[in-house]
Amino acid sequence: MSVRLRVNPILCDGHGLCAELFPERIALDDWGYPIIDHSPIGSKEESHARRAVDACPTLALALVPASAPRPSASAEGGE
Ligand code: SF4
Repeated sequence: MSVRLRVNPILCDGHGLCAELFPERIALDDWGYPIIDHSPIGSKEESHARRAVDACPTLALALVPASAPRPSASAEGGE
């Protein structure tokens, strides 16, 4: 099953740990909040993605099925 990253902007504290752990798919905006690349994550990168998800102190970051509906642009960073 293909997966992608999703961030809950309400839970996110914007400290940027996820971007340090998975810079290939997560950048930070000027305020330190994540800008997520929502394209599907391949098997080679999945372990890096899971490490970033596991390290998120507020449980704001998740891996979801790539087919999961995407929230509106204003409700999720990076779009
Ligand atoms: S690690 Fe979690 S709380 Fe920190 S910026 Fe990333 S998503 Fe937000």
